[in-house]
Amino acid sequence: AKKIGVLALQGAVTEHLQALNRLGVAAAAVKTPADLDGLDGLIIPGGESTAIGRLIREQGLEEPLRAFFASGKAVFGTCAGLILCSADRSHAPDELRLGFIDIEVERNGFGRQIDSFEALLPFGDLPEPVEAVFIRAPYIRTSGEGVRALASIDGKIVAAENDRVLVTAFHPELTDDLSVFSYFLKKIG
Ligand code: GLN
Repeated sequence: AKKIGVLALQGAVTEHLQALNRLGVAAAAVKTPADLDGLDGLIIPGGESTAIGRLIREQGLEEPLRAFFASGKAVFGTCAGLILCSADRSHAPDELRLGFIDIEVERNGFGRQIDSFEALLPFGDLPEPVEAVFIRAPYIRTSGEGVRALASIDGKIVAAENDRVLVTAFHPELTDDLSVFSYFLKKIG
């Protein structure tokens, strides 16, 4: 059976664990490098990307996360997690970027005055639009080779994938709609 970890340093952790459980998937909180053992995939949740990045380094998780991905595992980054998965270029050098998917992001890309909003969002080849909750969300400014855009709002890309990585600017764990989680699970063999 598949087992998925949820990085549990800061942010929306419990809701992701519950969504995975509702899909009948074993889920575990990841706080230390040893917690990555035996996982088939990892969700990096939303929260505050600077804080999560700092905690990843403090917990000695940066290299283990890179090794986890390099060993062929799948990763799903939502909101702050999308930012952490993005490419390691053109950002403040003290901010962690794991470079799991070749995208560049605009943090808080919908403007600070629009703190949060919801949308019914057409998503890749899913038959129904997904319920998407955006909270101080980033968008994807540029994407490189091997990256497929899955959803956009006003011409701004808000979800994308490569073969082993899914990223969404929105929070799929805050609604009852599990379709985006199911979409991620298909990346795991
Ligand atoms: N704006 C946050 C950041 O830059 C992300 C917000 C979120 O994850 N909901 O980290």
